[in-house]
Amino acid sequence: MQAVEWRAPHELVVVQRPEPQPRDGQMVVEVANCGICGSDLHSYNKGFAAEPGQVLGHEFCGVVLSAPGVDGVQEGDRVTVRPLTPCRTCDRCLEGNVHLCESSAADNVGYGSPGAFAERVLVPRARVGETVFVLPDSVDDRAGALVEPLAVSLRAVRIAAAGRDDVVLVLGGGMIGLGAARFLKLAGAGTIVLSDPSPLRRERALALGADIVIDPLTQDTTAVMRELTGPGGMGLGARADVVIDCAGVAVAFKDALKCVRHGGTVVLAAMYGQRIELVPDRIVEKELSVRGSFAYKDEFPDVIAALADGSVDAELFISHHFPLERTPEAFLAQLDRDRSLKVLVG
Ligand SMILES: [Zn+2]
Ligand SMILES: [Zn+2]
Repeated sequence: MQAVEWRAPHELVVVQRPEPQPRDGQMVVEVANCGICGSDLHSYNKGFAAEPGQVLGHEFCGVVLSAPGVDGVQEGDRVTVRPLTPCRTCDRCLEGNVHLCESSAADNVGYGSPGAFAERVLVPRARVGETVFVLPDSVDDRAGALVEPLAVSLRAVRIAAAGRDDVVLVLGGGMIGLGAARFLKLAGAGTIVLSDPSPLRRERALALGADIVIDPLTQDTTAVMRELTGPGGMGLGARADVVIDCAGVAVAFKDALKCVRHGGTVVLAAMYGQRIELVPDRIVEKELSVRGSFAYKDEFPDVIAALADGSVDAELFISHHFPLERTPEAFLAQLDRDRSLKVLVG
C-alpha cells in the first residue's frame, strides 16, 4: 500500500509498505482523510517523537476493513479513532484518567505505531467507545478527520471551566484555538477574545464565535485586554478571568500571566517544544491556577454529537485538501500559517 514516511527533518517520502495485518482485538481502517496536526509539524521540522521511517498521522477517519475479535463494529462501518490507546492497567488508566496513561507510546497511532498518512492503518488496541467511534452519516469524511483535534479543544475548554460572565482570552488561532473559541461559545462564556497574527485565522475566529480578535503583530495584547476589562490588581496588566494558551510560544505565556486577573486560571493547551524564560512571581502573587491540558479524556462522543447536529461546522476549520501522494506538499501548506487552517490529506 502507499504510505508516507518521515525520514529526516523536512523530508517526507511517498513509499510502498506492506499491508497491516490485524491480530485479535485489532482493526485495519481504510483511511478516508487524515489531518496534519501541530505535533506532526514538530515531528516534520525537528523529529519530535519520530524515528526515521515513521508514518505520521493521527487525526483520521475511514472505513473498517477488518476487525477480528472486536465487538460492536462491522466491516464497512465508518469510524474515527482515538490514536492514544490507553493500556487499561496502569494506575492512571485504572482511576479513569486514560489520557494520562503511563505506559509507553508504542501502541499510539502515528507515534509508536504507523500512522494514517497511508492508504490503510492498523489500530493496535481497537475497542469501540474507547479507541474506536462509529460516525453517523451526518458527520462526513472531512468532519470525521476533525474529531481528534476538536476533542483537544473541548478538553481545554472544560479544564478552563469559564463562567457565563467570564472574559476568556484564547492565545493562538490554529485548529485548537479556533475549536476552543467555538466550544467556549457553545458553553456560553461571557466574552471571548482570540489573538492570532493571521488575518484568515482571526476572521474564522469571529465566524466561530469570538467577540473580539487581536493581531499581536500590530496590537499590544495586554493593552487591548486592559481596555476591555479595566486594569488588573494594583493597576497592572488586565483582568481576564481565564486565558487559554493554544500558541505555545514564549510571548504567549508572558501575555497570559499579564492578562489574567488575580485568582484567575491559565490553561496551557499547546506544546512549547522549547525552553522559555519564566518569572514565577506573577503566578504566586495572583495565586493563579496554571493547568496543563493534554489531548482528551472522554471528549470524542461529545465532539461527534456537536458535528452531527451542526453546532460545530467542520468546513470553517479546513483550508486545503490534498491527495495522499501529495502529502509533502500538504505539509508545506500547513506550515504556511498565514494561508492555512487545517490541511487534510486523503
Ligand atoms: Zn494531533
Ligand atoms: Zn495506562
